Amino acid sequence: IDDLEGLDKQPFIDPEDMAKLKQIQRLKFTLPVRNVQVKTEGTLVNSVRRTIYDFFCQKIDNDELIATLRWFIFHEYDTSIPTWNLSSCPICENSSVPLHRKDMSNKYTFSCNHCGGELFLTDVFRLHEAIDEELGAGGILGYLINTLEQIIFVHLIRVILRMKPDLLNEMLFIKDGPLAFFGQTANIYKPMRSLVNYLFKNHNLYLAGLEKSGSFVEHADEITEKLDDGTVLILSNDYIYKYILPGYPDPTRPYGATTYYSNKLIFKTNSGGMYVVSLPTSENFLNPKKADFRNLDVILTNIEKLKCDMYDSALIPVALANKLVSLADHPSSGILQKFAKGAISS
Ligand SMILES: [Zn+2]
Repeated sequence: IDDLEGLDKQPFIDPEDMAKLKQIQRLKFTLPVRNVQVKTEGTLVNSVRRTIYDFFCQKIDNDELIATLRWFIFHEYDTSIPTWNLSSCPICENSSVPLHRKDMSNKYTFSCNHCGGELFLTDVFRLHEAIDEELGAGGILGYLINTLEQIIFVHLIRVILRMKPDLLNEMLFIKDGPLAFFGQTANIYKPMRSLVNYLFKNHNLYLAGLEKSGSFVEHADEITEKLDDGTVLILSNDYIYKYILPGYPDPTRPYGATTYYSNKLIFKTNSGGMYVVSLPTSENFLNPKKADFRNLDVILTNIEKLKCDMYDSALIPVALANKLVSLADHPSSGILQKFAKGAISS
């Protein structure tokens, strides 16, 4: 943290890094959103599927991202699971297609048990369900970026586990936005929670999601005068549905039960900054307690210390996280040296 304390005095992101940072956006531009098709693919759905699959087949840190996806989806870090149930086939649209790990080809593909069509491992994101041949694929961009950001964290975690698991004690992963998966990708919260629980049990994990917009941030702004500096307000289901979101669908069903692998809190720093933070939890709690958040104090201390005025209501770590993402196509040792440099202190 000492290294970082001087950082707000210098331009942290140099133009070269900004250029790299934008590379992660390139997917946006190359994704055939509309009226464009990948030559060999007949439909927009298949063009988009192929583009996402090809993206995952790139090597990042000398390893394909799609190998990480297999590791992640089939829990290969622990006792692996044999099958992932795909909710629908992108080709014949039949529902419930089992993807058996043992039947996966060396290209990370499967055959549909209904139509025999070629399924990609990346079809687990179900983005094909949200693409309309006429309206286009614009609706999946947000889900895709949110998912990619988190899968790249998973990739880095896998690289670290393989190289030097102790580094997990020294790295803080900060995601821009909540720790959750939305829309068609929502189900991915399940393998993410499994991985989080595995890491908490066997290693460690410092991971936080920071929200910069939305209902929770608006609420945090409204109550800023009511909270003392240095206060943590852990958000229970009752609180969320009483003060932040309209309605109360089902009192026994926690907020984000089908999307989040985290619970939320509002944090007012000692200097009066307000943050909406989500931290991974072992289950989705209706009424989370402080003890349900692993590494809470250390993470909040770092969020406070890393505060950066360079960006409006943003932080260095979001830049860090973005930087991490943007640099992910460089050799891992380089990344690890850069980012292991002690974001964590207790
Ligand atoms: Zn099929």
